[in-house]
Amino acid sequence: MGLQLTNAQFNQVLARLSAKYAIYAPKNFPLEGRYSDTDMVRYDGITQVEDIVFERKSDMSAKEIVTPINETIMFFFNGQVQESKIPQKEILIFARACDINGFKRLDDIFLRNSETPDYYYQRRRNKIKFIAIECPSQGWDTCFCVSTQTNDTSDYALAVKSTGESLKIEIKDQEFAEYFADFAQNSTCQYQYQPVLENELKLTLPVINSQEVLTRLKNHPMWKEYNRRCVMCGSCTVNCPTCSCFTTYDVKFATDSETGAGERRRMAASCHVDGFTDMAGGHTFRTSAAERMRFKALHKVHDHKQRFGDNMCVGCGRCDDRCPEHISFSSMIQKMHTAVEQIKQELNHDSK
Ligand code: SF4
Ligand code: SF4
Repeated sequence: MGLQLTNAQFNQVLARLSAKYAIYAPKNFPLEGRYSDTDMVRYDGITQVEDIVFERKSDMSAKEIVTPINETIMFFFNGQVQESKIPQKEILIFARACDINGFKRLDDIFLRNSETPDYYYQRRRNKIKFIAIECPSQGWDTCFCVSTQTNDTSDYALAVKSTGESLKIEIKDQEFAEYFADFAQNSTCQYQYQPVLENELKLTLPVINSQEVLTRLKNHPMWKEYNRRCVMCGSCTVNCPTCSCFTTYDVKFATDSETGAGERRRMAASCHVDGFTDMAGGHTFRTSAAERMRFKALHKVHDHKQRFGDNMCVGCGRCDDRCPEHISFSSMIQKMHTAVEQIKQELNHDSK
């Protein structure tokens, strides 16, 4: 059983929710898109249904809410250190299945990768609940979430499907039922969240089943084309819902130099960009675009799975949408699969 509320009725629910929750959703930013005269859809605070973009996949992922691209994490003054403050409210995020699954991957890295969870991630993550947005039946043309098995989610408090003038709503977390109490009698409908079951784009992910296969894949000529094509801008990693790398740097306030006043900031980093692997002794790993691409690709569809059980890539297709050089990560995955199968055949042949 679900509810169907007009947008105006749902706005009343949002008004009630906003007393306890900061509510985020994909929102349109006119003329901020990648090309002239195009819009950008990215996450921001919302107060009404009309703010939410349902008909487009957001250009940026929801990870910005919990790991902002640039964030002050602490302040220094007179030898004292003070952590930055975040808003007190709980957080509700309207998100699609790929983004909700993306948070599971971020949790792996920030909360489970070492004995000490990342404090600055955790302080926001603990506050988050999701409102799942139902996608169009096949998603969009660059989506491949069915291939990455991230097309479905059960991690939501509410789920919604927009019909334009109204919303169909599934209330999964009964803590939220009270917010809909005024409409419970007269607005019922048959609605339950439906995941995408088939994408237009269908991929077979590589299965790297031995160290020998991995070594040969690393040395495969397929990577060389990216030396010509990838300009190492890092744009693909900034909007990837699962890329989590960051760097930190200190800013001294010039006017307060005597007190040592300043702040420490955390800023998104990218394995595609110069400086990412610079060592104190002057050495740098992976200087070529091909090596960096190989590193990222293996991280997305092999390394993370080895460590945590799930592939890191959630098949959102945003890197394909975003790359200024029109490099398709989904095509790369398919090439990796073909190369891995060839390598396995060669190894079988060699062992005979
Ligand atoms: S690698 Fe590309 S398709 Fe995979 S999760 Fe990141 S942005 Fe989405
Ligand atoms: S793959 Fe595309 S978006 Fe990513 S670093 Fe290379 S050129 Fe930039």
